[in-house]
Amino acid sequence: MQIAKNKVVSIDYTLKNDDGQILDTSEGREPLNFIHGNGHLIPGLEEALEGKTKDEKLSVSIPPEKGYGLRSEEMVQTVDRSNFDKDAQIEVGMQFQAQMENGMQMLTVIKVEGNNITLDGNHPLSDKTLHFDVDVKDVREATAEELEHGHVHGPGGHKH
Ligand code: ZN
Repeated sequence: MQIAKNKVVSIDYTLKNDDGQILDTSEGREPLNFIHGNGHLIPGLEEALEGKTKDEKLSVSIPPEKGYGLRSEEMVQTVDRSNFDKDAQIEVGMQFQAQMENGMQMLTVIKVEGNNITLDGNHPLSDKTLHFDVDVKDVREATAEELEHGHVHGPGGHKH
């Protein structure tokens, strides 16, 4: 069976940067399970996987435009400390999720100056070319229930 929209795909993967450093890997964990063609993965990786079958291995380099995007200074904003919980300890490097106009977004604190807190909404991997080694472990049809829920059930998936 080939990988196509709405197939449940199981992959082992390793992600490296241009220097060959490992940024993320499924090694030592369960494979990553996802419903293909629904934006669960970055666009470049979904494209590369399209048409592949179980046991295929691929190495692919993905430009930022098809990865986590290009850095945008518009995603950087300075807010007043009063926006945070009174007792919160705000430090550079902290990350948290915030509800924004276009959904949940990961924000990173990049500067703290008195009551001014500068937040960066760019993905930490924006502007980066991503090098993936992928091993396709399994491809199967999604069940009607999985498609309805938008996530994978069973081993390596949602247990509910
Ligand atoms: Zn479910």
